[in-house]
Amino acid sequence: MRLDTSFVEARLRAPFFTARQRVDAVRLLYVRVVDAAGRAGHGEAVALDVELHVLRDALEACRPVLAESDGTDREQLIGACAQAGPHPAAASAIDMALWDLAGRRAGEPVWRLLGAADAPVVEVNATIAAADPGRASSEAAAARETGFRCVKVKVGLPGDADRVAAVRAAAGPEMAIRLDANGAWSVGEAVSTLHSLEPLGVELCEEPTSGSDGIARVSAGTSIPVALDESASEPGVVDRRVCDAVCLKIARWGGISALVEAASRARAAGYRLYLASMLDGPLGIAAALHAATAARPDLPCGLATLSLFTGRPEVLPARQGRIRVPDGPGLGLGLSDWYE
Ligand SMILES: [Mg+2]
Repeated sequence: MRLDTSFVEARLRAPFFTARQRVDAVRLLYVRVVDAAGRAGHGEAVALDVELHVLRDALEACRPVLAESDGTDREQLIGACAQAGPHPAAASAIDMALWDLAGRRAGEPVWRLLGAADAPVVEVNATIAAADPGRASSEAAAARETGFRCVKVKVGLPGDADRVAAVRAAAGPEMAIRLDANGAWSVGEAVSTLHSLEPLGVELCEEPTSGSDGIARVSAGTSIPVALDESASEPGVVDRRVCDAVCLKIARWGGISALVEAASRARAAGYRLYLASMLDGPLGIAAALHAATAARPDLPCGLATLSLFTGRPEVLPARQGRIRVPDGPGLGLGLSDWYE
């Protein structure tokens, strides 16, 4: 099989603030694997917390591995690619392209290849991108009006209490409010800040501090449920429960197959689960929607992030807080125009 990659820079409507970074645009590699008959499978590698050249090098290392295969031995091929060019976001791009190709060859959607009986409809949260309380309030009001039942707010930034209070006031008492500190707090800061935010009603806090040991201590020190995100990829941490929930991402785990396997291990350890995007394009979002049929998330997923981009076609929109998997074989039709 031939490997094609092309670079895409997708601009956001407005800057997206986390405790770690300000994001104005997302750089990604759009990937196609093309078989001898000219059939193509599509994937993407997002360069959010990694330099683009690292992903390029990892994908280049997969090229000779792919050249010797017809794509039918998907699991073995992913293993060989992961050894040749080890980066999970690159492995994820190849994995989703091979699933897409397998589906197109079989004339079946990926969710059916994963054993599901019905097309998935996935409950999702809205993401509040603004750091400023006034803007965060407007975004929360818009999320409520369009039928979301959960919003996610970044914390670990100046003015957390004002921002979360503004979101609660605008979102109403029924809205689940999820926090994400991206590991910014110390254990002590996390416990005291979460204590002060408790009266506002918090669904859970993702990655309050960095590292699973610290997260376990925060979890023991607060009544607010705590979730692993970045620290979920520490070796073995999904196999032993250190807190309430775990957030799984296609690009961090290395694709659909790896995410489904991680979900099954995490569930066996007693975690509640949800999936999320790393500001993925529509192929990454679609891959997560398909994976959700096998991963069976317990909580709303952070997959309604395509609306944060500007100047791209509207695909996979959230309706009443849910996203339907796209129609068609493979990952779905109509996803690739977004990358042009
Ligand atoms: Mg997170």
